[in-house]
Amino acid sequence: MWEFDPAPETADPKLKARYELFIDGEFVAPKGGKYFESINPANEKKLTELALGGAADVDAAFAAAQRAFDTVWGKMPGRERAKYIYRIARLLQDRAREFAVAETLDNGKPIRETRDFDVPMAAAHFFYHAGWADKLEYLAPGRRVQPLGVVGQVIPWNFPLLMLAWKIAPALAAGNCVVIKPATNTPITAVKLAEIFRDAGLPKGVVNVITGPGATGGLIMAHPKAAKIAFTGSTEVGKVIMKSIAGTDKRMTMELGGKAANIVFDDAPLDQAVEGIVNGIFFNQGQVCCAGSRLLVQESVAEAVIAKLKTRLRVLRVGDPMDKNTDVGAIVSKAQLDTIQGYLDIGVKEGAELWQPPFRRPAKGFYLPPTLFTEVTMSHRVAREEIFGPVLAILTFRTVEEAVEKANNTEYGLSAGVWTDKGSRILKLSTELKAGVVWANTFNKFDPTSPFGGYKESGFGREGGRQGLLDYLQVV
Ligand code: NAD
Repeated sequence: MWEFDPAPETADPKLKARYELFIDGEFVAPKGGKYFESINPANEKKLTELALGGAADVDAAFAAAQRAFDTVWGKMPGRERAKYIYRIARLLQDRAREFAVAETLDNGKPIRETRDFDVPMAAAHFFYHAGWADKLEYLAPGRRVQPLGVVGQVIPWNFPLLMLAWKIAPALAAGNCVVIKPATNTPITAVKLAEIFRDAGLPKGVVNVITGPGATGGLIMAHPKAAKIAFTGSTEVGKVIMKSIAGTDKRMTMELGGKAANIVFDDAPLDQAVEGIVNGIFFNQGQVCCAGSRLLVQESVAEAVIAKLKTRLRVLRVGDPMDKNTDVGAIVSKAQLDTIQGYLDIGVKEGAELWQPPFRRPAKGFYLPPTLFTEVTMSHRVAREEIFGPVLAILTFRTVEEAVEKANNTEYGLSAGVWTDKGSRILKLSTELKAGVVWANTFNKFDPTSPFGGYKESGFGREGGRQGLLDYLQVV
């Protein structure tokens, strides 16, 4: 049983007692005068408080963004825009440690992940898109490309900084201006990134950051000045937003939920596959839209894979996210922990078998050990619904056809994984699996050059690569 390592990282996240909205290049108090708290899910202590943006603030942000688009940003040559975006990337690198610590404190994800993945990947997105800013005409040879105007963006709490980069970098490279809302649970890196926009000398109003609850997100998505909206979050909220803007001429992209199949064939290198399964579902406590939350394992090796998996999970360290040795940190909030716990109860009630390694829950903080469900069938809710936690539903299959059918038997279609020694099988499955991303002999690999997005209820539009940029441009 793991005791928590008492030696945290010591970098100072430089948190202020209070953060304001970032509108028209300035940090300003919300017109309604209200603030909300952000807490550390690892110990439930208050970290800071943030401005609660309302309708008047959202209007001011869109007015500033439209002004910036009409007078400066929309007219600026791409090579000039690129300089600002490169500067943002470099300033983020300079403050990498501070951002990693702030993100871990706010979200509960292990410092190893924020340090080695979230922050460098966010910087990589700004670098990559800066490189495109003066080459946009190559996206559609022989045609003209134009920015859309002001884009409204709303993001979730699972990769707070990275989602900011995924949204803001392509919008700016394409010549658009932005009004963005981070998730209510994890707003800190958004207001810190606003400091970087200011320090990079980004013209006033080009990016505006409005913190607040879901209702504030609704105001941004439905705002009449938003030429395009980009949303990442749950399928449920995505549908509410789509209804709210039906009949308008807004462009939109939706990055929604997932229930990915990670498929292991009997010829796969099993130890490697087990590492891939662990990374697929326990990275970021399983709070990943493309998590490999359904393991489909070929019947002949199922027993061996499950035994190896249990051995591996016994040594996975669940604990203080600030400890460099932690593998699984805290769940983002009490509400999310309750949702996951609810699914554990549902799974057991439906007849699946639950397994967890020995774990002692600390008195404070929102923790859950890595959890397996075996004896699962396709009709079980734990095999069908997005749990968004460290919970793996394990199913078996006999033939390739059965694997494909089970993998595609879901309303989602964001990602899938295939573990096999056979190249021909990888090629076959990569066309037959209805998923935006198919990983072969790896999982959860990301790169700014690769488009990411869904089939079916996982959404539409792409982020990353040239396809992602095209979603921020009018091709004429
Ligand atoms: P959520 O849908 O509850 O919230 C996402 C964002 O929308 C938050 O900023 C929230 O404040 C805001 N919001 C809530 N109600 C709103 C409304 N009516 N109008 C406008 N905005 C509103 O999702 P979450 O719990 O923050 O994130 C988890 C979900 O996000 C999961 O379903 C996950 O799969 C999905 N996700 C998808 C991707 C992807 O790329 N496909 C990436 C990350 C997360």
